[in-house]
Amino acid sequence: MTAILEINDLHVAIEGNEILKGVDLIVKQGEVHALMGPNGTGKSTLAYSLMGHPKYEITQGQMIFKGQSLEELDPDERARLGLFLAFQYPVAIPGVSLANFLRMAINAHRRVIDPEDKGISIPKFRTMLKEKMDLLQMPHEFAGRYLNEGFSGGEKKRAEILQLAALEPEIAVLDETDSGLDIDALRIVASGVNALAGPELGVLIITHYQRILNYIKPDFVHIMLNGRIVESAGADLAEHLEEHGYDWIREKYNGNLVEV
Ligand code: ADP
Ligand code: MG
Repeated sequence: MTAILEINDLHVAIEGNEILKGVDLIVKQGEVHALMGPNGTGKSTLAYSLMGHPKYEITQGQMIFKGQSLEELDPDERARLGLFLAFQYPVAIPGVSLANFLRMAINAHRRVIDPEDKGISIPKFRTMLKEKMDLLQMPHEFAGRYLNEGFSGGEKKRAEILQLAALEPEIAVLDETDSGLDIDALRIVASGVNALAGPELGVLIITHYQRILNYIKPDFVHIMLNGRIVESAGADLAEHLEEHGYDWIREKYNGNLVEV
């Protein structure tokens, strides 16, 4: 059965201020979606809401994954159900290598399916990890690094993509920062997504960066403005953004926005 992430009329407030004002979005396994839009429009708020960050209050609407309401699940349970959200893992675990961390994460997932599961065998895990790293063109030594200890921004992204590859989620939500790193980060994330995309994986890639098509070809492109998705189309919408930027979208919608 195809896994579906469905967001219905989602309203989210931070400290009493409504940031998301009715977001509707459906992402299915096998599809690559890009969520774009100017800074400050609520893209990261959507990502944090999906991962269950306590600061983000759902005031209206639903997030449904595989028929279950995400609001009823803690972040860990969301992950075990097959929803991958970047940054939901510990920032740094002293003395734990990336490989060990990945093995623990895989075993935690397996125990959800079968509480008696003894875990993946070390030889099997090593073979799997090498295959994934080859697919992602990562040097095998990378897996021996201690988790996030002294990782550069780019290495953090690489670790995130390796985690995505190893956990084999059905839907992944990847949020890009809007910092100066974001072109490099997008390049790393995009080549990972390109390598991993296929019928088993659905992706929602969130980016501010307009020239996304240089790196990735999404099946669907959505533009968020003022807490709502105002345009959804195919990759041609990203092409339009590359040429014209976001000004036309502000002009088109800012004039007739109804505050609720
Ligand atoms: P984007 O990712 O599209 O740049 P964000 O979701 O980060 O946008 O931010 C949307 C709005 O929410 C902005 O106006 C921002 O100032 C506000 N905001 C984001 N995070 C917080 C927070 N932790 N507390 C208060 N306001 C916030
Ligand atoms: Mg953001």
